[in-house]
Amino acid sequence: MSEKVENIEVLIIGSGPAGYTAAIYAARADLKPVLIQGLQPGGQLTTTTEVDNYPGYPNGVDGTKMMEDFKAQAERFDTDTRWGMVSKVDFSKRPFRVEIDGNKNVLAQSVIIATGASAKWLGIPDEERLNGFGVSACAVCDGFFYKGQDVVVVGAGDTAAEEATYLAKLCTKVTMLVRRDKMRASKAMQKRVFNMNNITVLFNHETKSINGDKGVESVTAYNNQTNEETVIPATGFFVAIGHKPNTDLFKGQLDMDDNGYLIVEAGTSKTKIDGVFAAGDVADHIYRQAVTSAGTGCMAALDAERFLASQE
Ligand code: NDP
Repeated sequence: MSEKVENIEVLIIGSGPAGYTAAIYAARADLKPVLIQGLQPGGQLTTTTEVDNYPGYPNGVDGTKMMEDFKAQAERFDTDTRWGMVSKVDFSKRPFRVEIDGNKNVLAQSVIIATGASAKWLGIPDEERLNGFGVSACAVCDGFFYKGQDVVVVGAGDTAAEEATYLAKLCTKVTMLVRRDKMRASKAMQKRVFNMNNITVLFNHETKSINGDKGVESVTAYNNQTNEETVIPATGFFVAIGHKPNTDLFKGQLDMDDNGYLIVEAGTSKTKIDGVFAAGDVADHIYRQAVTSAGTGCMAALDAERFLASQE
């Protein structure tokens, strides 16, 4: 007896700004999109507090509330939003077979991947305890709240250098904790860091604890050569040790760069497989903003619509 499998025109994987914007466009084009929300419904924005840089919200908006608005807008046009995790994909032939939660299969005529990226964390208990209360992984999102205050940035790559220079323009003092005796960031980025007179770089330093009950008050760092400890007064603690794109599912099927980000054809959302599109942070390690993700989500829906029309 043959298995009866649901057939979906546009399957969207991921529920951040890219996924929901793709859903709004696909639904309005009557493509009856099904959106699988993933492990963190609403995506990375649900881990920040106030979003002040998304156009259309003159007074700012809570990140979780904004994603609820995106969802409500997608559902207003009959997007079928579902709980669940995509556990396997087979892009070898169309329609694409997609497994959800390890036990349910659907067939998709087109797939929009909007699985985003996850910030890497140090993994110390204080970091989780004070997340959203002074601990952040996004200076552009949260830096504004630390205007005129002292902050600590952990990391030594281009992201950390960029976040430190961004924060240095707002904050009184920025201390960078670099775990080795040199930075990984490009020479140009390092130069920018060293040109800011309110950034102090502590080499060979790691985080021992983030101190404070209801918010960050100071950071205890230690020199990993001498074990000497330093208490740094700070109200913000920014972790900038890289992001990991959520692409493990697609390994061996789609092209990725060395860091695992999906590669799309320039100026489009097209992956190397016809009918499979990528939008948002999963294919963007440079901009990583809600508004740019939403923009590429729109592109992916339009690309999918054109692709499906060309197959009729
Ligand atoms: P990277 O992987 O390049 O750097 C991560 C940094 O975090 C490294 O310096 C690493 O230290 C440090 N780190 C990792 N784990 C820990 C830990 N547990 N404790 C302390 N430090 C830690 O990530 P980025 O996000 O900086 O960059 C990712 C990619 O994006 C790169 O290719 C980068 O060039 C690119 N990028 C480009 C930008 C631009 O061009 N404007 C801006 C931002 C990113 P260590 O060096 O010791 O390993």
